[in-house]
Amino acid sequence: MHYRRILNEYGLIPKRKLGQNFLFSKSCLAKIVDSADIKRTDVILEIGPGIGNLTELMVDSASALIGIEKDRSLFKVLKNRLKDKPNLILINEDFLNVDLNSYASKFGSLKIVANPPYYISSLIIDSLIRHRRSLAQVFLSFQKEYIDKIFAVPGSKDYGIISVITQAYFEVKKLFKIPKNFFYPSPKFDSYFIVLLAKKLPGIDNDALFLSLVREFFKSRRKTVKRIIKNSKIISVPDPAEALYNLNIGLNSRPENITVSEYIEIANYYCRSIGERDASGTI
Ligand code: SAH
Repeated sequence: MHYRRILNEYGLIPKRKLGQNFLFSKSCLAKIVDSADIKRTDVILEIGPGIGNLTELMVDSASALIGIEKDRSLFKVLKNRLKDKPNLILINEDFLNVDLNSYASKFGSLKIVANPPYYISSLIIDSLIRHRRSLAQVFLSFQKEYIDKIFAVPGSKDYGIISVITQAYFEVKKLFKIPKNFFYPSPKFDSYFIVLLAKKLPGIDNDALFLSLVREFFKSRRKTVKRIIKNSKIISVPDPAEALYNLNIGLNSRPENITVSEYIEIANYYCRSIGERDASGTI
């Protein structure tokens, strides 16, 4: 098979600690490219191109493709295999250290299309949130257990930080399943391919405050929100019961029952109350 030949030729053994599971199913790769609907004008950014299975199918149809690969040996493989692609920009770097905004200001807004390393799924989401204004659309695969977190609704066991922050900033949609045996080596779980579209107006007054508030609430999953607000290190509300009453949130609600828009309202309520009490708004 193609991928085995490449790995053998370069004497490579997939590195587990870099999340190396190569997607080799031709029909699935084609489905990814098809759903990402690549246009001549697209500037694509691929997280972890690996041996370039997906890269080679996309590069010719896009205006440019930026591939960020952390592994030095795979970077060399890519350089060598795809050397005759003038619109391919390969970068040997950790995606998490890449400032996507600087690429976007140079090339225009980016379309991410990738089957990325799964061990950094949460950090990828953080990066997407931080760089959302530079992203046109994001087509990504994640493992099933992580997908369940992204799509979880209030009250379910998977509902948590990932669900709230991803849904607050992005419209998310599941596209299709990628069975685990489509990868080499095969991971433990199936994956899903999804699309994320940054919301134009998430309605969040202060991003840093919102993000830390969500994290603080879910640290105390079992406590009531009234208590969490009372002991909060992030927000100080003189009368938590009154605040919750004003926000129309039940006093005995717990973090897992608060909806995404309620999280936003709690954070904004605090920002605005500070604004009223302290015009300098020291937050
Ligand atoms: N997209 C390829 C490879 C998937 S495996 C395919 O579908 O076949 C994940 C890839 O991400 C590997 O090539 C791995 O070396 C790379 N990688 C791991 N951590 C990374 C990081 N922090 N930044 C960029 N690439 C990374």
